[in-house]
Amino acid sequence: MTYLADQTRYDKMTYNRSGRSGLRLPAVSLGLWHNFGGINVLENQRTMARRAFDLGITHFDLANNYGPPPGSAEENFGTLLKQDLAPYRDELIISTKAGYYMWPGPYGEWGSKKNLVASLNQSLKRMGLDYVDIYYHHRPDPNTPLEETMSALDLIVRQGKALYVGLSNYSAEQTREASRILKSLGTPCLIHQPNYSMLSRWIEDGLQDVLDEEGIGTIAFSPLAGGMLTDRYLDGIAPDSRAAGPSVFMRPEHVTEERLAKVRKLDELAKSRGQKMSQLALAWVLRGGRVTSALIGASKVSQIEDAVGALEAPELTREELALIDAILA
Ligand code: NDP
Repeated sequence: MTYLADQTRYDKMTYNRSGRSGLRLPAVSLGLWHNFGGINVLENQRTMARRAFDLGITHFDLANNYGPPPGSAEENFGTLLKQDLAPYRDELIISTKAGYYMWPGPYGEWGSKKNLVASLNQSLKRMGLDYVDIYYHHRPDPNTPLEETMSALDLIVRQGKALYVGLSNYSAEQTREASRILKSLGTPCLIHQPNYSMLSRWIEDGLQDVLDEEGIGTIAFSPLAGGMLTDRYLDGIAPDSRAAGPSVFMRPEHVTEERLAKVRKLDELAKSRGQKMSQLALAWVLRGGRVTSALIGASKVSQIEDAVGALEAPELTREELALIDAILA
């Protein structure tokens, strides 16, 4: 059936400005790293993408290598765009990335101009797009001069193949230097995409200050720690969960008793606030307005609904934040 977007889609979502740019992003964005590959059912992907957009999620995050197999998430998203979302292209922020291994030989990964330009050309083809909204360098490259990688990002913007550029997995110092170069080229860094959750707080140790100083937004990836910070594993490892699946990033051995004990305590706090565990984890990532968007993943529509529902709860109080710190310590 032809898709018609929900008329009320902009009523409930919060949109936050990314750093000192003109672009506002939804407080919850959807990533297509897992569950959107060639091994996954396209119909479920379609239902999730439609529901996300109907709930005001305007931002979809991809990378060249998302799948499996690598590239298939972009291909599937291209299909969903063509069939459903293309009429809404100007209401969407679509991002992709290059930097991790994508094809054999010396040009298929890292940070050369050759890699960044060729990879984006491939991504645009797979998605059937003329341009992406945000193009990221996915990880720092210790062997390519930062000037080359940043000038490749600047070139791509000037060619009209991306509107904005971002960095992912760069340290505080690397970000400061990259931002300086990008500003000198006239293409300021829009956003940084780091891992950030209750279980991974490294950005609080310097990176957040650099991002504030430089006027760069933050989109926190894996804010639910891949599902650990939800009720997913409280009663064991369900066969349809990420830990039971083929992902090498979430294995049964990551679901430790030590982590579960913390999540159980956090879950009690969530319940006392009338929230689900996953919603508390998102409210925490977004607390105080320092994070532009929480970049979630989902395997079913209800998880996307849960995430957007997290925005309805009151801000965390000082006492609740202290309790969370104590539980996590
Ligand atoms: P999350 O931490 O949000 O984990 C998502 C998983 O949590 C879901 O697949 C689901 O697991 C579970 N989940 C979500 N909501 C609920 C809920 N309400 N109740 C129970 N379980 C829930 O994020 P991801 O690790 O998936 O990463 C999100 C995005 O971040 C990626 O798609 C990608 O765009 C980006 N990313 C970027 C990286 C980078 O290097 N720049 C690296 C990693 C991610 P299940 O499948 O078991 O149902």
